Amino acid sequence: MTLSQQELQSNYFLEKQTLHYDVEQLMRLFTSSQSTEEKMGESIANLSQDFLNANNASTDIELDALAEQFCDSRIPVDPTDFESYIEYLSNNVIAHSIHTSSPRFIGHMTSALPCFMRSLAKLMTAINQNAVKIETAKALSFYERQALAMMHRQIYNFSDRFYAQHIQNSQSTLGVLVSGGTTANITAMWCARNAALAAKDDFLGVEKEGLIAALNFYGYKGAAIIGSELMHFSFDKAADLLGIGNRGLIKVPVDSNNRINLRSLLDAVAKCQEQNLCIIAIIGIAGTTDSGGVDPLLDIVAIAREANVHCHVDAAWGGPLIFSKQHRHKIAGIEKADSVTIDGHKQLYLPMGIGMLFLREPQMAKAIEKQASYTMRKGSFDLGKRSLEGSRPAMALFLHAGLNLIGSKGYEFLIDEGIRKTQYMAARIRAMPEFELLAEPDTNLVVYCYIPEPLRESAAKQKLTETDRLLISQFNQRLQKMQRQAGRTFISRTTKKIVRFGKEIPIIALRAVLANPLTTENDIDAVLNDQIQIAAEISLSDLLADADNVTQLQ
Ligand SMILES: *Cc1c(COP(=O)(O)O)cnc(C)c1O
Repeated sequence: MTLSQQELQSNYFLEKQTLHYDVEQLMRLFTSSQSTEEKMGESIANLSQDFLNANNASTDIELDALAEQFCDSRIPVDPTDFESYIEYLSNNVIAHSIHTSSPRFIGHMTSALPCFMRSLAKLMTAINQNAVKIETAKALSFYERQALAMMHRQIYNFSDRFYAQHIQNSQSTLGVLVSGGTTANITAMWCARNAALAAKDDFLGVEKEGLIAALNFYGYKGAAIIGSELMHFSFDKAADLLGIGNRGLIKVPVDSNNRINLRSLLDAVAKCQEQNLCIIAIIGIAGTTDSGGVDPLLDIVAIAREANVHCHVDAAWGGPLIFSKQHRHKIAGIEKADSVTIDGHKQLYLPMGIGMLFLREPQMAKAIEKQASYTMRKGSFDLGKRSLEGSRPAMALFLHAGLNLIGSKGYEFLIDEGIRKTQYMAARIRAMPEFELLAEPDTNLVVYCYIPEPLRESAAKQKLTETDRLLISQFNQRLQKMQRQAGRTFISRTTKKIVRFGKEIPIIALRAVLANPLTTENDIDAVLNDQIQIAAEISLSDLLADADNVTQLQ
């Protein structure tokens, strides 16, 4: 039903008459005094402190009950005052939020932040710069470039001359600051695709003519991206968005240590070449999301070079190992990659929403450069012309501050500690009859499972049957759900393929991530003991009776 112009107008006047809107009150929201802001800041500070001091992982409220609290879809006509709103927020949202900084929340890649980040977040909002262009982010554009160059140098370690030449050169891009690892990986694949199918002779490039024309021009039957089966699902998104399709994302099997099988990788490359597919990129993972495993990067780089293909290293998780003298060797080869993804909001301890893509060759981002007449002028320092995102906050503030206030020594300590605690946890798991370690940790993730009492003897003798395995799987799934629901501690779960009985069987495993600087050995023991306590409440016969579930796993 459409309203006539007249009806519209009368509705408008009606609204105007019935709405006793306090304009002054509204304007005060924009011109607030220092005292008002201080008062608001105080309520927020109290709320944050209480939240941060909590020790448990979460409350035990059921998700259905929680969802019911958020079912009203009407926008309030009259404004709510700040204090009442904060009270609402506190009772309904903050109370049931996840204490990601809790030392016993060790199941995901999100953990405690340094306190200065919270103050900087306020500043970021206060200055409200838009990093998309120089006209809305003046000094910030150069400051962001500097922070990215610092990280680039830590990865690639080129000469002083190189950095002097490129750090503030509008033609060069050492890195792109984005909202996360997903966008960084998509950007990397975007650059690689456009470079692989670039303009040549009378062909204007994939960017202008599209994928079909590009493949036709170069005589390819299709395009592919190759990496291990443990590639993050952001590559599925990239393959989809770039027109390669998920079938073009070739997932190579991993060995029992979660690293790509090089033989299979070589086969996959050869097969693509035989089938006349354009290989856009070969991916190496430095710290898989699932188990922290690191691919043999030097070999992967060599294979990519040999095939003349872009080599991308997804170091979203493991990238910060570059700060550690003791562990850097584990990601050796990263410095040879054409592009590298690192997440700031993981092991650089920056707030959520910071991903980075680094480019070995500073001209590479030209492959995705865009111009617009009202902004993004050619030759300008507008950061938005070589980034997937448009308007973007001053997140560089956190990165630059982290690098300065924590420093490379500080990051080295944090990385070394995380890996040390991981070794502690792995050793505990090995020593306790209740648990089985499923792989030696490469970095700081531990993948393990709980073995129910009646099956321990067979487990110790390596005599578990396939049905036993499925039962253990089922048991661990239930255990993880119950632990999450109880909320005292938290461990996540993943599905791992293990080779037994001459075939691969998928099993559900527990997954710990040791990155929170506040987590102590004591906390690790507490988490494991919590699992033992919860496991005692699970009845094996109930699980057995639930035969449907068991078969579902297969
Ligand atoms: C976390 C992660 C990503 C995705 O990063 P987001 O910041 O969640 O978008 C990609 N790759 C790996 C290896 C990761 O661990």
